[in-house]
Amino acid sequence: MASTPHHPHPHVALIPSAGMGHLIPFLRLSAMLAARGCAVSIIAAHPTVSATESDHLSAFFAAYPEIKRIDFHLLPYKKSNFINEDPFFVQFEAIDKSTHLLRPVLSSLSPPLSAVVSDLPVLGSIARITEDLSIPTYTLITTSARFFCLMANLSLLLAAGDVNGGTIDVPGLGQVPVSSIPPPMLNPNHFFSATIAENTLPMPKLKGILLNTFTWFESEAIEALNGTGLAPILPVGPLQPLQTVQGGSNLPWLDQQAQESVLFISFGSRTALSKEQIRELGAGLEKSGCNFLWVLKGSKVDKEDNQEVEELIGEGFLERTQSKGLVVKGWVDQDQVLGHPSIGGFMSHCGWNSVMEAARLGVPILAWPLHGDQKINAEVVEKIGLGLWSSRDWGWGGQKLVGRDEIADKIMEVMMDEKVRDRAKQIKERACLVRDGNGDSELKLQEIIRSCIKET
Ligand code: UDP
Repeated sequence: MASTPHHPHPHVALIPSAGMGHLIPFLRLSAMLAARGCAVSIIAAHPTVSATESDHLSAFFAAYPEIKRIDFHLLPYKKSNFINEDPFFVQFEAIDKSTHLLRPVLSSLSPPLSAVVSDLPVLGSIARITEDLSIPTYTLITTSARFFCLMANLSLLLAAGDVNGGTIDVPGLGQVPVSSIPPPMLNPNHFFSATIAENTLPMPKLKGILLNTFTWFESEAIEALNGTGLAPILPVGPLQPLQTVQGGSNLPWLDQQAQESVLFISFGSRTALSKEQIRELGAGLEKSGCNFLWVLKGSKVDKEDNQEVEELIGEGFLERTQSKGLVVKGWVDQDQVLGHPSIGGFMSHCGWNSVMEAARLGVPILAWPLHGDQKINAEVVEKIGLGLWSSRDWGWGGQKLVGRDEIADKIMEVMMDEKVRDRAKQIKERACLVRDGNGDSELKLQEIIRSCIKET
């Protein structure tokens, strides 16, 4: 706030919404701001949807005692008229409906706030408060610049929404296949579409839009966004990993494997394959003969994930593959795993954090996008050459059962592709450069902090 002049360190409050895919980049940005001299407060909804979110928050505040924790107790959720069956999206709505409770918090924090960084799913209601209180407001986008560009062009997509198949011409991006756009985004009655419409509205008035990407990696989309009349576009990624490591360490097992021989398989924090699909994937892995570390999930929300590995994967699999691979249930520190020298490939759903981690660590991706922004993110992976997305006809998650033979072929393709491996290493170098003292993303972050100091 502009009124109290004598605070040498800007005070930034960050407001994440729900799910690890949102929480992790918010925690990373918080730690990066604190390391660069900012006072930081995190306002996190309570209770969280998953146990993992709650565990991570506790571990984070224990590791970063200088960062202030503010628990945001939500009002009971009242169902809206939008189609919304996803527990994480329900939490978006619940947070959104409770944000008025934050007005006294935001106006009374000490030292007074220099800036707020809000997650997109709650930006509309937060920005109404911060505008009244004259607190400069940023958002941190947790998806790719490419998908964000589609969000910014939602009205155009909705107008073309009944196109069956084909492509939509998106300014700056060219022809985007309709099959890559998640169907809920094309349905105005769906919460996914409604939340984008509502929360992109305040964008032109913001102080800036932070993205977990870097200009070289997504130049086309960043250029397209710069022309949309939104607030300044500020690519500050890849965000740096935290000092806390959560989840059992699989490093001793990885240490015993040959260099770049292991395929890491994970579909992120909130995607579970069907049991039938898990078994086909298992059979495909066996057929490929590849070493693997597989993080298995049986349900979207971890608290409901109570089936044993054998129950999900089928009897005998673990015995037959014990010399080849490891199957883990529960949280694994993905960033730590991807950084291990024995990892040679990453079968990924292409959640954006996963893509950025693979880019930062130079690991080739075998893209298997299933929901939401993931196909558009897979397009980014393919275009820049960080990995292969040769499975376009596999549809959206759960639409069809992908067979073991096809899976085995794709695994062998990515693990033997020297070109993609070299390219991933070049990308790693680029990702490293932008975080240097004079790197693009680092300079952007410094610029944001300087502008917060001016506001203090
Ligand atoms: N992640 C992890 N261990 C797991 C599952 C996920 O460390 O067992 C992390 C992963 O590194 C990433 C985040 O959780 O930082 C997931 O975000 P992403 O955008 O990739 O996918 P989402 O979970 O949102 O679908």
